[in-house]
Amino acid sequence: METRIKHKNIPFFIPHSGCGHSCVFCNQVKITGHHLCESDVKEEVARLDALVESSLETLDGAKAEIGFFGGSFTGIENERRVALLKAAYRYVKTGKVLGIRLSTRPDYISTEILDELEIYGVTAVELGIQSTDNKVLEASARGHRAEVCFEAARLITERGMEFVGQMMVGLPQSDLEKELKTAEDIVSMGALSARIYPTVVFEGTELYRMTVGGTYTPLSLEDAVERSAKCLSVFENAGVRILRIGLHSSDNLKQAPFGANHPAIGEAVYSRAVLYNIEEQLSELKDLGFDNKVLKIYTSFDGVSATAGHNC
Ligand code: SF4
Repeated sequence: METRIKHKNIPFFIPHSGCGHSCVFCNQVKITGHHLCESDVKEEVARLDALVESSLETLDGAKAEIGFFGGSFTGIENERRVALLKAAYRYVKTGKVLGIRLSTRPDYISTEILDELEIYGVTAVELGIQSTDNKVLEASARGHRAEVCFEAARLITERGMEFVGQMMVGLPQSDLEKELKTAEDIVSMGALSARIYPTVVFEGTELYRMTVGGTYTPLSLEDAVERSAKCLSVFENAGVRILRIGLHSSDNLKQAPFGANHPAIGEAVYSRAVLYNIEEQLSELKDLGFDNKVLKIYTSFDGVSATAGHNC
């Protein structure tokens, strides 16, 4: 039997740090203009060390990467960014972790930044692409155009780093066609992995005000599942690994008043993609004269739940 080496992330969250923007869907607490002093940075590095040390004890043979998530890592102050990278790199150099991954905005990637990330052993960069349609980017107040996404991905892949494309479904001015194009564009940019996030409307965001004011219609669960499943098929057909579909379950997510806030939306999307696949194969069988026959569907053990479906 094949023995698979498990892979885990040790996630260190830097909420909204490094971001001077206000995307309409973003509910992260804004702390712009707040610069950490030297002792704050030391304290943050100590927290990172404590997290990594305790995580290493529970890895159970799995290989791990340290992940800087939750903000725009390459946009945070130089001193703080380098201190965190240096601290994480010590674990890479000693072979305790495989590498470092981080998430950021496409317009916060440059040759100089990538030089620095390379020095400190960064192996993967996750870009919040969200959409490659300029109207959608503008309506979502992303603050950059689609061309910037293509250029950032090119710079990352040229270095041999893993490029991960994150996209959203259901943004203002978006539709299925634009979302399928975004998924295809992310594939063409050379993504090895992707994340799909159906849009959720949190209270206090511009998107919430747009919803209440009637200028934005939130995604229904059905639309979120259908559109995400079709994007998922684009990635799967291109051999792009899916790291996540939907936000992590949390009280915040439960309390979101509109949009795709189902805690198990990822499972529903996987299941729907299997259904579309089965339907496609059945229609081919029908053409071959296999109509009205009892068919057995075979799936891997891992695929039983998605094939059985979730009734949503
Ligand atoms: S770039 Fe990211 S952190 Fe900044 S406002 Fe947009 S979603 Fe929020």
